[in-house]
Amino acid sequence: MNDTIENITCPACGKTMHKVYMQESGSALDVCLDGCGGIFFDGQELKHFDEHSENIDELKNALEGKNFEKTDETQTRICPVCGNNMVKNNVSIKKEITIDECYNCGSKFFDHGELTKMREQYATEKDRQQDFLASTYEEIGSKIDALELQNQMNRANRSRFLKLLDKVFLGR
Ligand SMILES: [Zn+2]
Ligand SMILES: [Zn+2]
Repeated sequence: MNDTIENITCPACGKTMHKVYMQESGSALDVCLDGCGGIFFDGQELKHFDEHSENIDELKNALEGKNFEKTDETQTRICPVCGNNMVKNNVSIKKEITIDECYNCGSKFFDHGELTKMREQYATEKDRQQDFLASTYEEIGSKIDALELQNQMNRANRSRFLKLLDKVFLGR
């Protein structure tokens, strides 16, 4: 997907976002410099900026020294590109960072500070994937444990039930 050419409206605070030109990737990011400090990525833009090693100096410079408005992060946001409701998603397995994502056009919105936080958590994409795998295994593991427990309970109940039948019908 191409960059949005028009200035877009911030999905969090409604202010007009500014274009910040990023040298390394050659793309322009939409940043809410007059409002909440949020960053909007259209389409696949984010993959150029989510790793610690990728350069975001222009973005840092643009955001530096400014005070940004607080926004209500629990509110459902509307994608400024296509008008669909955005969905809250964890970008970090550690689950401290929730961003807004548009499943229709692939855009993502980061509240102020979230991108830096995410970049700091993992040095590389590989680290992130490993963490993701580890936590997925953990989750599946606990599901299997729960299932096993349920099976055992079912079995226990069945044997109790059979004993009851024995008692009722055979008087044992
Ligand atoms: Zn904003
Ligand atoms: Zn969209």
